[in-house]
Amino acid sequence: MQNDRVFRRSAAILVLSLLAAACRETPRRPLNVLFITIDTFRADRLGAATPALNRVAREGVRFDAADSPVPLTLPAHASLLSGLLPLHHGLRNNGIGVFPADRETLPALFARAGYRTGAFVGSFILDHRFGLDRGFERYDDEIVRNVTDSSGTFDAERRGGEVIDRALTWLRQNDTRPFFAWVHLYDAHAPYAPPAPYPQTYDGEVAYVDAQVARLLAAIDRSTTIVVIAGDHGESLGEHGELTHGLLLYEPTLHVPMIVAAPSLAPRTIRAAVSTVDLAPTVASLAGVPFTKLVDGRDLTADLRAGREPRPAPVYAETQYPATFGWSELASMRMASAKFISAPAPELYDLARDPGEAVNVLTTERRAFHDLAARLDQLRSTAVASAPSTVDAETKAKLASLGYVAPAPSSTGTKRDPKSVAPLFRRFEEATSLINGGRARDAVAPLEQLVRDDPSNHVFRETLARALRQSGDAPRAIALYRQAVALAPNDADAWYNLAVALEESGNAREGAVALAEAAKRDPNRPEIHNIRGTALAEAGDLAGAEKEFRATINADPRNARAYNNLGNVLRAMNRDAEAGEAYRKAIEIAPRYADPLNGVGALLVAGGQAREAMPYFDSALQIAPDFYEAQLNRAIALQVAGDAGAAAAELQRLLARLPASRDYDPQRNAARTLLGRLPPQFRR
Ligand SMILES: [Zn+2]
Repeated sequence: MQNDRVFRRSAAILVLSLLAAACRETPRRPLNVLFITIDTFRADRLGAATPALNRVAREGVRFDAADSPVPLTLPAHASLLSGLLPLHHGLRNNGIGVFPADRETLPALFARAGYRTGAFVGSFILDHRFGLDRGFERYDDEIVRNVTDSSGTFDAERRGGEVIDRALTWLRQNDTRPFFAWVHLYDAHAPYAPPAPYPQTYDGEVAYVDAQVARLLAAIDRSTTIVVIAGDHGESLGEHGELTHGLLLYEPTLHVPMIVAAPSLAPRTIRAAVSTVDLAPTVASLAGVPFTKLVDGRDLTADLRAGREPRPAPVYAETQYPATFGWSELASMRMASAKFISAPAPELYDLARDPGEAVNVLTTERRAFHDLAARLDQLRSTAVASAPSTVDAETKAKLASLGYVAPAPSSTGTKRDPKSVAPLFRRFEEATSLINGGRARDAVAPLEQLVRDDPSNHVFRETLARALRQSGDAPRAIALYRQAVALAPNDADAWYNLAVALEESGNAREGAVALAEAAKRDPNRPEIHNIRGTALAEAGDLAGAEKEFRATINADPRNARAYNNLGNVLRAMNRDAEAGEAYRKAIEIAPRYADPLNGVGALLVAGGQAREAMPYFDSALQIAPDFYEAQLNRAIALQVAGDAGAAAAELQRLLARLPASRDYDPQRNAARTLLGRLPPQFRR
């Protein structure tokens, strides 16, 4: 009897526990997570024009009032992946800092829970050097570098199509573990240049991104996958006088689409104001691997499961980007529809009545103002120190190619209210887009006016110098860089720029002095070794040059320019096999870099393989049509291969198109000498 009763009781317990298991929402097999971030995505663009995204929004939980905590890509993504506000993870700007090792992130959580983790990002802004790669088994941030010594430009982004291709390959790998995949599409960022047939506009980019997301969604099983979609920040498109994002804290750049579509969640729309920092804790919890450390974001899972609106909570945002220009930084605090912006001239808006943020109600709504200002002060007092760090030259150049200015540690400036300088900023954005579009000369006059309008703004001054340098006016660029070092003698960048401009104009002696000043202030900058090596090589100290180029590679193992320079110096030392290795490494890192292609070609000609060298010169010239040395080498290769007629024709083509300037006399003389050595019937 005794046994019987015990048996029955445990049978009842068994039935209960089976019932509980049957009712539990978390399935036995963990859910996959597909975390899609769409750069520069305005909330109002989610709709009919984005059918794939809109479908996920209809089938999932759509947040209608989600704000980004910061309108800048790197800090915004650090927040999306960690649930922390920028003032608690310390990444406040693009291009600077490393995500702190002691803070938790989604990939780290999922990796520990046995997931395979992969990230596929579309921009250098999210390069692994900024620390968001932690926890990812695969962090695909490889963006082919297009380094050409003549232009100094860097490819710093890649198309969504390529990002999705890479992600799909990874997703299709045979692996029994559940996955956490982060896919970042950068396309909607300015300049707006989607592939054909999409219109060359912001909306064209958004439509292209939607088509790419559709490819990704078609490849996954939605019944076993949580799909998350979020914009990192919006785009102002001229509203409030701002063209892009980063300067101001109005809704066009903060309000973003945010969607969580999970197999266990019924579709619904959430109207309460939330932050994109809420995503990380919510997604982790939905997948059954919650954060163990406290984060700023709220876990909204209980509300989503119960089908109710989350309680109102304060929503914070900031931008420190204006401080880069010497202007005041901004922060904002929102509670339901009341939004306070802390600025030299503070603002308060009622977003319910005034979604366009046109009427400042600060003087009439004193209570809301004091409450939000107090909350903001309290939160700001908890900020962690961001790691002091300087931005290296390559990072700076890449940021510039994406339209961003790297933060300078020494910036002092006027602390002007960003909204009052919005017209200046807009003209600055237009000027930098001219430079990035290869029209540096056209940017000179607008930048000169900007320097007159904001004389202490060192960014305007340096950008004018860059435009002058790129349009060939070295003397004026040098004069401006001299002013910059006089204004900010501790600014390593200013010294560095002066050094490069002096070197480029042939003033190696003064260039070396300026470079020494830059090195004193920032000794670890890889590019400093590169320039020093070039100067040593030109002065004939090949062994010294080799050492400097190797130091560059040590500090930056993917520096294609350093490998090319190393190849050149090794070739000059007759160490052809090693030179070939260095050139090939440069080509591997940067397949569209013409110089090492020319280098390999030259080595092949010297080694008696003139025919084999031809494709290298052809590729170099296809990439850089004005690479006259490569054309000269091509002619030599033709001659060595025994085709004197073709060699003569090549040399004549070169002579006909060489610019008249005396700068090209060495090439002209070499071509004439080579032509003179050909049999007379070919000289014409
Ligand atoms: Zn962004």
